[in-house]
Amino acid sequence: MDNIDPKRRSANMARIRGKDTAPEMQVRRIAHRMGLRFRLHRKDLPGKPDLVFPKHRLAVFVHGCFWHRHPGCARASSPSTRVDFWAAKFAANVARDARQQEELGRLGWNVLVVWQCDLKDQGAVATVLKSATEISP
Ligand SMILES: [Zn+2]
Repeated sequence: MDNIDPKRRSANMARIRGKDTAPEMQVRRIAHRMGLRFRLHRKDLPGKPDLVFPKHRLAVFVHGCFWHRHPGCARASSPSTRVDFWAAKFAANVARDARQQEELGRLGWNVLVVWQCDLKDQGAVATVLKSATEISP
C-alpha cells in the first residue's frame, strides 16, 4: 500500500526528473533581475527547455556538466566502473541534446546552453543572456 498522496508524488517525480534544480533556479533569478519575461519547461517545445523567452525566440537549457557532458569540463569526468554502461548513457544524452537543439533551430528558436559551472560567474551568465535576448527574432 502506497500512502503518498498524488500531489506529493508528482512533486517527488518532478524532483527526480531534475526540474527546479539549483543551477536552474540561479538562471531564473538572473533573468528575473534583468527584467526578462520567461516561461518554464514549455512542454510543446523539443526538449522542454528550462527557460523560454518567447519575445526573443530564445530557448535556454541549464545543463549539468556531468550528465550533459560539458566538453573539456572537470565536472564531466567519467566513472571508472561500468565504463560501457556510462559511455552509452552519456552518448545517448549528448545525442538527445543535439537533436532537440536542432529541432528547436528548425522551428525558428535560438538556443542557449548555460552550463552548471558557468554559474560560478553569474555576471558572465547575465552578459550572455543579455546579448542572446538582444537578438531580434
Ligand atoms: Zn562545466
